Amino acid sequence: MANGSTLNPFEISQQQLDKSAEKLNLDPQVHALLREPMRVLEVHFPVRMDDGTTKAFTGFRVQYNDARGPTKGGLRFAPDETLDTVKALAAWMTWKCAVVDIPYGGGKGGVICNPKELSVAELERVARGYIRAVGRFIGPEKDIPAPDVYTTPQIMAWMMDEYSKLTGYNVPGVITGKPIPLGGSLGRGDATARGALYTILEAAKVLKLNLKGATVAVQGYGNAGYHAAKLMGELAGSKVVAVTDSRGGVYAPAGIDPEVALAHKEKTGSLSGLAGGKAITNQEILELEVDVLIPAAIENVITAKNAGSIKAKIIAEAANGPTTPEADEILYKNKKYLIPDFLCNSGGVTVSYFEWVQNVGGYYWSLEDVHARLKDKITRAFHDVQRMAEEHRVDNRTAAYMVSVQRVAEAMKLRGWV
Ligand code: GLU
Repeated sequence: MANGSTLNPFEISQQQLDKSAEKLNLDPQVHALLREPMRVLEVHFPVRMDDGTTKAFTGFRVQYNDARGPTKGGLRFAPDETLDTVKALAAWMTWKCAVVDIPYGGGKGGVICNPKELSVAELERVARGYIRAVGRFIGPEKDIPAPDVYTTPQIMAWMMDEYSKLTGYNVPGVITGKPIPLGGSLGRGDATARGALYTILEAAKVLKLNLKGATVAVQGYGNAGYHAAKLMGELAGSKVVAVTDSRGGVYAPAGIDPEVALAHKEKTGSLSGLAGGKAITNQEILELEVDVLIPAAIENVITAKNAGSIKAKIIAEAANGPTTPEADEILYKNKKYLIPDFLCNSGGVTVSYFEWVQNVGGYYWSLEDVHARLKDKITRAFHDVQRMAEEHRVDNRTAAYMVSVQRVAEAMKLRGWV
């Protein structure tokens, strides 16, 4: 993990679950089942490299809990991928699908590799090799992967094709986040950021904060970060004043054009050196005097060390797992409005669900339909969590866990598992 953190994300996810279990007075049998993934798969598969040699790659797929439906969640291609990170992310997918009330359980996968060091042809062979290795364990009724860190619609296309070869017929519903011509959904591209934005609009209403002209800092400039920066201006009239990626970025009180920042990143590979403001690091951005902070990069960036220095009124976690449990307590004490990750970034999987519905139904929706249904789903989820937080006087993350855990526990009970 970047930032040299020693925190184990899976243990963090268990700590978060334990806290909500206590508040819910959760049946200990349910709690025990929810503390561990239902199924863990580790695979080693051969990939022919461009120089003619064969290299063994290691991949994972974790199916955390399928009480509410087939497991669902992304695949990461990362050099520092670990089973514990995938387990944590699979747990968070379980809570994410439950909080936004879509009929899925949670899963996650990954391959230990550095996509930046692979040729396009090698990347394709890694993607296909992974699907051959896990093919029997996934499927539109079983477990449905999607993009995540360093995986793209093109990779989803190769994977869908490989799976379809295994089955002998076209199976678009096995994976989401596909390119539009292969059954991808309109609106999937910016869905994570758009969903985050809809939750920020609701949080601002709770705080009576006027977002027009409000200042925004965005840490991380991948799919979620870039689109969040863009939509904060377009849909809320807010002003993005700082953007960074792992190599740094810029603070420009007069405002930053998200397109100019993207063009700079595409040209130079980073936001560092972006003109028009003061150079800042990926850590400094978190402590700026802004109204809204959007961590949209990786895990464990808001910790006990810097949480006390955060000045933003709203922290919208577009990334998965950006805040540690100690930091959560500090933010809550300091009355920061936190929109927890698996609520804030659930727009991605929500539109993935719409994609899957369109694939299995064979009927495709308009962009307006996708946006309206996403807004409806995530706004409802936001208020379910807000209500829980108010009723039980707990922080928003604990409240989100309580909503989700209750829903998963109910499904487990109805199935007769406990
Ligand atoms: N990887 C995304 C997430 O963490 C999307 C998952 C999906 O679409 O299934 O939510």
